[in-house]
Amino acid sequence: METRASERNPSLLAMEEIAHMPYHWAIGLDGSKFFQEIKEREVLLGIRCPKCRKVYVPPRLLCGPCFVKMDELVELGKEGVIQAVTLVNYPFIDPDTGDRRPVPYIYGYIKLDGADNLFSHIVKTPPGVSAQVGDRVRAVFSREKKGRIQDIAFFEPLPKPKP
Ligand SMILES: [Zn+2]
Repeated sequence: METRASERNPSLLAMEEIAHMPYHWAIGLDGSKFFQEIKEREVLLGIRCPKCRKVYVPPRLLCGPCFVKMDELVELGKEGVIQAVTLVNYPFIDPDTGDRRPVPYIYGYIKLDGADNLFSHIVKTPPGVSAQVGDRVRAVFSREKKGRIQDIAFFEPLPKPKP
């Protein structure tokens, strides 16, 4: 008498594997210029829409709301204001190192001086100090730059003005 496979072994087994999936992603001319300027001059670039005049960082080809091509690159400040912030406690594999990124760390959405949209990045504060919406921060660049987003090591809070 035959039995069905599901009757012989009703529990399913799982296999665990780590997939290695290298890939290349074309970042375009403006994206290349953005990373080149960070690497060579520690300058952050945005791009201005010729119609609504908004400045986007990082540079992109089109202004979404206007649906027009942008080509005016503008230099932005290295400082900005935190608009949203969160404490990340979820560990994940850092794609740059292949190691588990230590937690917790602070992630912020920053309105850079001269830009109209938000730029997200790690915010590093002194031990025991939290980051808050409204804090002014500045970019701290990595010593060794490779033309990647990690060339901005993190943003650090600036001293608060005395009342
Ligand atoms: Zn526009």
